[in-house]
Amino acid sequence: MSYRSRAANAAIAAIIASLAVAAVVCGALLLRPGSSAADAGHAGSSGASDSGSLDSGSLDSGTVSSEARAGERDEERFGGNGEVLDPDGIRVDADHPGVRGLDPELRAAVQAAAERAAAEGIELRLNSGWRSAAYQDELLAQAVSDYGSEAEARHWVDTPERSAHVRGEAVDIGGLEAALWVGQYGAEFGLCQIYANENWHFELAPIDADGFCPRAYDSAAARPE
Ligand SMILES: [Zn+2]
Repeated sequence: MSYRSRAANAAIAAIIASLAVAAVVCGALLLRPGSSAADAGHAGSSGASDSGSLDSGSLDSGTVSSEARAGERDEERFGGNGEVLDPDGIRVDADHPGVRGLDPELRAAVQAAAERAAAEGIELRLNSGWRSAAYQDELLAQAVSDYGSEAEARHWVDTPERSAHVRGEAVDIGGLEAALWVGQYGAEFGLCQIYANENWHFELAPIDADGFCPRAYDSAAARPE
């Protein structure tokens, strides 16, 4: 091999080396935000666990439980509006917008009541708690459609401006037995049935010296502004 050709080879090698560096840099930049970042993590790595340190890309998402992904989809689809999708209601300590959005004092009261009820063999679950104003509006529109008039619907569903659910100050207890239990013992926790026509809807209310809740309104429509 002549001097000339060695020099040429060295130059070519240098060019190849610098191209390789450029490719790695570009590759890293290109790959970083994409789903193929996990593949980049495999280059020169000894195990799949390294891919996690680069990105939570495609490989990692495969290990997320289907339950968690379903939860994410629900949040996306319903915008975290507080809707309870489980027909059996949700636990009073569920990690759910309907529980997270509750007034802390109400949430604590409901959870304390649930603990006592559980000791008596009754599980308190929520059909509803906090709701977004938009979701409350949807419920009202649905009720107007179901009942045929806004006046009739308002006996059951409040406007977003009036609804205690939107303020995080009301819960709906799932199941008749559980709702009746709260109706009977809820006052010990400050929980009162507010509407005579809704034996599942409870809010915190002032308890009198004899331990009784205030008299219930006939319906949501009868509650003063
Ligand atoms: Zn309610």
